[in-house]
Order: sequence, then structure tokens, then C-alpha cells
Amino acid sequence: MTFDLDKLVRTNVRKMKPYSSARDDFQGTASVYLDANENPFSHLFSRYPDPHQAALKARISALKQIQPANLFLGNGSDEAIDLLIRAFCEPGRDNVVIPQPTYGMYTVSAETNAVEVRPVSLTSAFDVNAGAVLATCDSHTKLIFLCSPNNPSGNLLSTDAIERLLSAFPGIVVIDEAYIDFTGAAGWVSRLPRYPNLVILQTLSKAWGLAGLRLGLCIASSEIINVLNKIKPPYNINTATQQLALEALNYPENMIREVAQLREQRDQLFHHLQNLRGVNRVFPSDANFLLIQVSDAKSVHQRLIQRGIVVRLRSSLLLYGDCLRLTVGTSEENQKLLSALEEILNQPV
Ligand SMILES: *Cc1c(COP(=O)(O)O)cnc(C)c1O
Repeated sequence: MTFDLDKLVRTNVRKMKPYSSARDDFQGTASVYLDANENPFSHLFSRYPDPHQAALKARISALKQIQPANLFLGNGSDEAIDLLIRAFCEPGRDNVVIPQPTYGMYTVSAETNAVEVRPVSLTSAFDVNAGAVLATCDSHTKLIFLCSPNNPSGNLLSTDAIERLLSAFPGIVVIDEAYIDFTGAAGWVSRLPRYPNLVILQTLSKAWGLAGLRLGLCIASSEIINVLNKIKPPYNINTATQQLALEALNYPENMIREVAQLREQRDQLFHHLQNLRGVNRVFPSDANFLLIQVSDAKSVHQRLIQRGIVVRLRSSLLLYGDCLRLTVGTSEENQKLLSALEEILNQPV
């Protein structure tokens, strides 16, 4: 296959001139800034943020061993998902292919932008079937969304199937690695030079514990990153987020320690759930959550809420019917969950 980025980008996006902010027009340092209509009195946040997030990108690039030119930062990965769809998909004409069940935002963003969603089933082991995905694509398919580890099933998708898609599909393959830090796997970042159509999404919302800051990473060729930069809101990452993320990224050892604890907790929880009467299935997980199948998921969900415990009800998942997705918590939280589940499952209504 040949990959032609110019042909993939929407014509209006290719032709447009991006907004030029005050901070783009003047990039030196000055003693008097009267160019952006800011309040001149000294408040903590009176000045606009760096639209290019230079300091933050330098730090993240060093951590991920990439170049800043290969990195786009979004107000959560959700912003990057939306911008990818808006950059490449002509509303009412183009489509995106999404193996299901998976994270709901790909579909929501596509539908918000009047872009057709073509669902394909994952296999019974929640793996991607490359042949089925390719058979669903046509000349108007611009993006394939893969989520690995997949939400809500927790498993990594197979490398062979992803490689086949990257090699055969002339559009863009997005791999959402929101949970990659919980796996032992290296992920796809190092394979970026080999695949011009590869886009990787990561986030500080999960392993890094910064969901409230809203910072998502999109890693791709500099050509693809330039397209996203062209259409992003100029000040999409606010000053507080840039400062606080920069600070947190100074201490990767905290993240690594917490991830190790959560993985241990996950494996214990997996083991206990497998031995719990009334839990029909526990799906193996590489992430910080576990998917389980029980006989009446809706009622179990309700009865957990009555005990003050909230989990996610995931409806009609492939062959498995209604399931519950359990986020791995602290050891105490997981213990409460297990005791409540044991009680509920041993006293059917
Ligand atoms: C949680 C999650 C995200 C994170 O989105 P943010 O907008 O960065 O918080 C992205 N993708 C998947 C699959 C997720 O589960």
C-alpha cells in the first residue's frame, strides 16, 4: 500500500491557514507585553499559556524517547480523538472502522462530526480480526481505531493483527494505549519510524493519576502532528495543567511504584474473583481493571450501589451478555468489593 497524507487530509483543512496567536506573531522575550489584551495587573494566571507547550513537550519527549515534533498534546486524549476525526473525515462521506466492544468516545466523536461508524466484532477473546477489519474498509475509510489494552476487556491486541493492518490499510491506524503503563509490553512508540500511518494515543489520566488535569498525548509522524497543530484551539492546554503536569513528570518513580502495586492488586483480585461462586468468568487483563461475567449483572450492579460501591455495567458484550467492569482500587477497596460481591452472589434475589 502507498500512504499519501495529503490525500487523506480533508481538502478544507489542507487549504486553510491556521490561526496565528499573539504568541505566534512574536516569539522573543520582551519587558512589556501589550499584544494579547491580557489584564496587566499581576494575577497568577493573567497571561495566556504557551500554545506550543514547549517545556512540557520537552519533558514528555525525553520520557518517551521521541522528538517533540512527534508529539501533540490534547485536553485529554478525547480532544485528540476528536481532532483526528475532524482532520481526516469529510462529514457525510467518509467513515471510520471501530472493532467492538471498545471505548465509547471514538463513536461519539465520529457521530458528533457526522462521520459514519463501521463497527466490526472483536473475536471471542476480544482480539482484533485483521481480515474482518480490512473487509469492512472501503475507499472512504480514513481511520481505524484500535484500543490496546482494550477497554472494557483489558487485553492487549495481538501484534501480528495490528502489523497486518498497518501494512495493508492506506489510511490511519490509531492505537489507543491509555493503559500501556500497566502492561509489561513496550507498546508501539518505537515502531513509529516504520509506519507512516501509525498514530498512538496515551494519557496522563490513568497510570499517572492526573485524570483531573486533562492531558492526552498523541504520538505520530511530524507530518500528522502538524495537521493536528493546524486545527487545534490555540490555547488547548491551560497554564495550570502545563505547570502541574511538568511537576508530576519529575517523579516517574511514583507512577512506577503505584503501577506495580496496582498490578499486584489486579492479580490478587483476579485470583479471588475466579474462586468466587457466581462469577462465571474473569477475563485476563493487562490494564488496571477487570471484566467479569455474572448471571444477572444489572441486579449485581444495583446491589453493589446499595452497599456504596460503584462499578461499571457493560451491556451485551459479544457472546457474554451483560458484564461488570471493575477498576482495581486500593487493597482495602478491593477487599470491600470482594466481600460485597460474595454476599450478593450467595443470596440471589
Ligand atoms: C480512560 C481512557 C482514555 C483517557 O482519556 P482522557 O481524555 O485522556 O482522560 C482514553 N482512551 C481509553 C480507551 C480510555 O479508557
